[in-house]
Amino acid sequence: MLQVRFHDWKRQIQWIIDGENYFWQTSENGFQFTDSNQPDIVLKCSRNNLNRIAEIKLSFFISIWATGDIQFQGSFADAFRLGYIFLSDKRKRKVIFLAHCFLNTNTRFPGGCAYDGATMPLIKTVLDCGVGIIQMPCPEYLCLGLEKYKYGEMAPEEMRKCFREKAEEVIKQIKDYLKFRFDILGVIGMNPSPSCGVEITKGKGTMLGIDRDTSEKEGPGVFIEELIKLLKEERIENIPIFGIRRILPGEEGIEERLEQIKTRLSQS
Ligand code: SF4
Repeated sequence: MLQVRFHDWKRQIQWIIDGENYFWQTSENGFQFTDSNQPDIVLKCSRNNLNRIAEIKLSFFISIWATGDIQFQGSFADAFRLGYIFLSDKRKRKVIFLAHCFLNTNTRFPGGCAYDGATMPLIKTVLDCGVGIIQMPCPEYLCLGLEKYKYGEMAPEEMRKCFREKAEEVIKQIKDYLKFRFDILGVIGMNPSPSCGVEITKGKGTMLGIDRDTSEKEGPGVFIEELIKLLKEERIENIPIFGIRRILPGEEGIEERLEQIKTRLSQS
């Protein structure tokens, strides 16, 4: 992480530890001691608190942001930079990208919600694995309207372009998380959505306005297709993309789907 966190960040830092002065300067390789004494940032604390930070018993950032165990002079942008350099907290740095409507079932098609607000068993399973959930945008909501009144009415190229723009937002986030070396355990779509399905879609032609076939077909939905294309264009590899089948009211079989996700997440 040195190259990322110290990139283009030239600063001199003065530590005042129990009244004694120490000067650091930054480079692409981290911190070095320096004789210069024109600091951009001043950090003042006791040796005891410094030891507690080194032993990860005290959070560096909380010490300057909340508790005052370290007195800080400088910009808050630099405070954040230092906070991540001396990061100590519980985050596991593992994330998944999840189809929007698993977390917010309100964007589903009419009759498509078996849960009040979120697909709780699935969400709970992911959270119990210590994995952060990044909710992808709902392309049908954003391109066809919240109640999808443009379904099948938009020109296919126009609709695809809109879906691609939403997929670009996901790619931007994927790149950010990769840049900061997070583990992206997967992109999880929703089978058999014509947009977010991965292995199966249903009624893709009806959404594109090219046929009236509502049977299930193999292959990805339009949003996932665009996402896969963008990943290839950006040469981003090794991110598993898979679908979990949605649950309809009265349907059974959630356990099997949860086992599937548990296995996937525990293998990662
Ligand atoms: S499957 Fe995708 S497009 Fe359909 S409601 Fe869910 S998030 Fe929106």
